[in-house]
Amino acid sequence: MELQQLIRPTILALQPYSSARDEFDGEADVFLDANESPYPTAYNRYPDPLQRKLKAKIATLKNVHPNQIFLGNGSDEAIDLLIRIFCTPGTDAIVMPVPTYGMYSVCAAVNQVAVKSVSLTSDFQLDVPTLLDAARGCKIMFLCSPNNPSGNLLRPEDVVTVLTSFEGIVVVDEAYIDFAASPGFIGSLHQFPTLVVLQTLSKAWGLAGLRLGMAFANAILISWMNKVKYPYNINTVTQELALARLNNIDAFRQQVTQLNNERDNLVKSLQLLPAVITVYPSDANFLLVKFRNAASVFQTLLNRKIIVRDRSRVILCDDCLRITVGTPEENQQLLNVLSTL
Ligand SMILES: *Cc1c(COP(=O)(O)O)cnc(C)c1O
Repeated sequence: MELQQLIRPTILALQPYSSARDEFDGEADVFLDANESPYPTAYNRYPDPLQRKLKAKIATLKNVHPNQIFLGNGSDEAIDLLIRIFCTPGTDAIVMPVPTYGMYSVCAAVNQVAVKSVSLTSDFQLDVPTLLDAARGCKIMFLCSPNNPSGNLLRPEDVVTVLTSFEGIVVVDEAYIDFAASPGFIGSLHQFPTLVVLQTLSKAWGLAGLRLGMAFANAILISWMNKVKYPYNINTVTQELALARLNNIDAFRQQVTQLNNERDNLVKSLQLLPAVITVYPSDANFLLVKFRNAASVFQTLLNRKIIVRDRSRVILCDDCLRITVGTPEENQQLLNVLSTL
């Protein structure tokens, strides 16, 4: 399927807004083109609309070309943009296995796009035949790997089967890939022109408050995302601070190793507790845990001012809480409370 056939006709016909900084991006001494204040406040100039310095750094880290990168105000911006580029409101649909991250269906609903959902198997893997069956005619499939809230990686061979069989856009959300012993799908972009990989600085990189999400895809698909986005979607402060953090890869690696060790310790400790039924295997910085009585565990933790995520009303997650891995001290506080139950 050609990309052009998947894009909404309205978007194909779009004459994108061209900002002052789009029309001139060379070196100059006097900028009188954007109605900015000439008085320096450190932020009196508009930011680079295409975030070139930041993308050059990310391109090196991820081994892609800068024109294969889109940067958004969180991955959530990329999710919303993809739906708006490919799905005509009231007509088109997306498809996804469940349980998964909530934003795909929220963005679809806001855009009046139908959602088809197919249950994952009991071990949270893809039911490939049922998924492909449901996917017929859908524009986008959202896969989350490692999956939120279950924590596991999807089997790569299943993702490849879907990529070769589904005639639409396949979004693989890798928000937690830095915690997993898997390279993820960025290396497969050249094989699959309909693949979009999402990553973020919000989790392992420790910058949730800055809001920087990344989408990786072939250059043509990325150029459509750039046409539809707000011109100055990533502010100057975010561009500067994100670049500084990406230049400190040692701290990043050390924290990922530490969190993964803490996760493995937490699994072992939780498995010994009488209140716990199952700790599901995790390739992320959180654990899905089935308790004898999740509601009462949740309330007890809340009374001790420890907040976890109640997923017990979600399909396949009866009596489950999702617990983020914290510092060793925080994890010990959690275990102290749980061991009294
Ligand atoms: C946390 C999370 C994100 C991150 O979203 P941002 O908007 O980049 O903060 C994306 N996808 C999944 C599955 C997540 O759990």
